[in-house]
Amino acid sequence: MSAPLGLYVHVPFCTVKCSYCDFNSYAGIEDMQSAWLEAALREITLWSPSVVEREITSIFIGGGTPSLLEGESIQRLLYHARSRLRIAGDAEVTLEANPESVQLERLQAYRAAGVNRVSMGVQSLHAAELVFLDRIHSADRAEAAFSDTRRAGFDNVNVDLIYGLPGQSLESWQDTLERVIAWRDRQDMQDRQDRQDSGPDHLSCYALTVEAGTPLAARVAAGRVIEADPDRVADIADWTAQRLSEAGYEHYETSNYARRGRQCLHNLTYWRNQEYLAIGPGAHGFVDGVRYQVVRSPRLYIDRVAAAQAEPLLVDLPSPAIEAAERVSEWDHLIDTLTSGLRLMEGVELASLPSLAERLRPTIDWAVANGLAQEHRGRLSLSKRGHAVANEVFVRLLEVEPPPDAY
Ligand code: SF4
Repeated sequence: MSAPLGLYVHVPFCTVKCSYCDFNSYAGIEDMQSAWLEAALREITLWSPSVVEREITSIFIGGGTPSLLEGESIQRLLYHARSRLRIAGDAEVTLEANPESVQLERLQAYRAAGVNRVSMGVQSLHAAELVFLDRIHSADRAEAAFSDTRRAGFDNVNVDLIYGLPGQSLESWQDTLERVIAWRDRQDMQDRQDRQDSGPDHLSCYALTVEAGTPLAARVAAGRVIEADPDRVADIADWTAQRLSEAGYEHYETSNYARRGRQCLHNLTYWRNQEYLAIGPGAHGFVDGVRYQVVRSPRLYIDRVAAAQAEPLLVDLPSPAIEAAERVSEWDHLIDTLTSGLRLMEGVELASLPSLAERLRPTIDWAVANGLAQEHRGRLSLSKRGHAVANEVFVRLLEVEPPPDAY
């Protein structure tokens, strides 16, 4: 039987383009929403014969800001996906939301459409930090939106937070995190005193990175913004891991924490280097050993899918909106498996790696000898210190010469 797949759907719309963001998202193109939806439905139809044998175990509607879409649009999208693809009955179905764009009624419509997990982009509860990030919600609005997810029936909610902002103190970050993990549903949970029942089910805590080509990168280059001190950022990361562990969250990936049974199944697909179908402008997919990228421009995406006119590719794929594709060599697959799998605390099972992995043995031994990794019961995982300098380990892995016939 074929291995299961994830499904990623990219929604390119945002209310404001945040200065630090390098995602494929755009403000001011709301008038394309219905054409985008028609194109996404058609892309699913075009993919259907190639992947219908494979069970879809997770769906992630990401962006962009998917919560700008009406409940009816999400209902059509998921209904169509279910009618054309083999979606598991218990599939995890996540929708990314921003606090300013969700109200109770819309969340209820998403829940009724089959969404069973919400990932909320909160980032901070401090007004000055939210302004720096160009986020347009307030701390109150973020808390109310969380409360509304519970009232709409979501028992699996993630909150995204960002730390390491220029000038951010440890105390400021601590205040944001403490308040978020103390959030309760204002309506239904007021009488529940158990601290384990407060807060989201999952937290993604990312350090701010200055991505090339963003307005933030230009401000940093011009000296108008000074990046946070790396030692302070490392202190924040250490404190976060400690505090969330005390609060009952499992630290299962470098930047991700979950209550028991609430790890993000879709993101585990990426970290375990498993395959996923991806649709929507700028989406990256991995199907049948081929990695591909859909054209980034929403206008071009809509036009190409509508006209079913594809640029010729070296690999034959069903969507006309794919602009680049490459069959992954065994060597690249091995390196991808290690560099993504080592982000997970569970690490990577060495026995599952091809014999090619023996070429990496000196690098693995170097990481173990330097206290950056450990081998235990046939698994390789990074140590606490290794997670802090994971990029150094990954660079070493990428430097290993592939075998002469690898490509
Ligand atoms: S809301 Fe999210 S996707 Fe949209 S511009 Fe801001 S960071 Fe990027």
